[in-house]
Amino acid sequence: MELLDGKLVSEKIKLEIAEEAAQFLASTGRKPHLTAILVGNDGGSETYVASKMKNCEKVGFQSSLVRYDNTVTEAELLNKIREINADTGVDGLIVQLPLPKHIDPEKVTETIDYRKDVDGFHPINLGRMVRNLPCFIPATPYGILLMLQAYHIDTTGKHCVVVGRSNIVGTPMSILMARNANPGNCTVTLTHSKTRDLKEQVLQADIVIAAIGKKNFITADMVKPGAIIIDVGINRETSTQTKSGYKLYGDVDFEHVAPKASYITPVPGGVGLMTIVGLLKNTLASAKGEIY
Ligand code: NDP
Repeated sequence: MELLDGKLVSEKIKLEIAEEAAQFLASTGRKPHLTAILVGNDGGSETYVASKMKNCEKVGFQSSLVRYDNTVTEAELLNKIREINADTGVDGLIVQLPLPKHIDPEKVTETIDYRKDVDGFHPINLGRMVRNLPCFIPATPYGILLMLQAYHIDTTGKHCVVVGRSNIVGTPMSILMARNANPGNCTVTLTHSKTRDLKEQVLQADIVIAAIGKKNFITADMVKPGAIIIDVGINRETSTQTKSGYKLYGDVDFEHVAPKASYITPVPGGVGLMTIVGLLKNTLASAKGEIY
């Protein structure tokens, strides 16, 4: 079994990004600029946004954080998005999910200018992704592709089973793995909570991509020997054993699945770190005008 080491790979790619950001600064006199909007005080969201901002600084990007209370109205949030859309000094704009119930996430996603949509959630980016056209690929699936590339894993002809069909992870991942590209060229099965015989489906997989949101959901008896396991899940539990007061668990029962796998991502230290790399790469590409 080989560990797909998100720390190692993300640090290496971030060095490359930092070099390109320095060249961009030298030639344009400005840094690539990512703006994040955070609504409310969800513990997980606070951590993710802080990490995104910190990583921007690390690679020489400018970062801005716009914060709102849970009570912000949808109209106020949408107006802020329009204002940032019009700001030529901003290359990428993300709104951290989840949002409070009174705000429609679809409206938020569609209000973001697709040319600044570095999370890759806008329907134009998703549509272009399906057509294999230049676009911002959603950050988590993009990070997974970069991880597979970094380990020179040939996915061609393999059977990939994706568990979870969210708009931000499972569905785009299934499309990317089926595209005529490498990574890609897989035969893909997209599964979800209504799938019958989930265990039998996952047992067929050469590559399992788990994006469910349930701690240790994928167990050793569901996995074929030699399978490649990508664990997207981030399940936070309070803990007295850690300084932060919580512990993270994946969707895969790492302890028992790892001995059967050929490659596996750990949680933490796997896909989460690669997601940030995906976001940084999209922001850099936006600044350089490489996509639009
Ligand atoms: P969602 O809650 O949006 O989607 C979960 C999916 O899992 C749904 O499609 C759901 O099916 C499916 N599911 C739930 N229960 C079962 C079940 N018993 N059997 C089969 N399928 C099931 O989650 P996200 O995609 O947003 O996130 C998934 C996980 O990944 C979470 O832990 C999240 O924190 C993490 N995450 C990690 C990121 C990273 O950077 N590492 C980035 C984004 C998310 P149905 O559609 O039928 O309801």
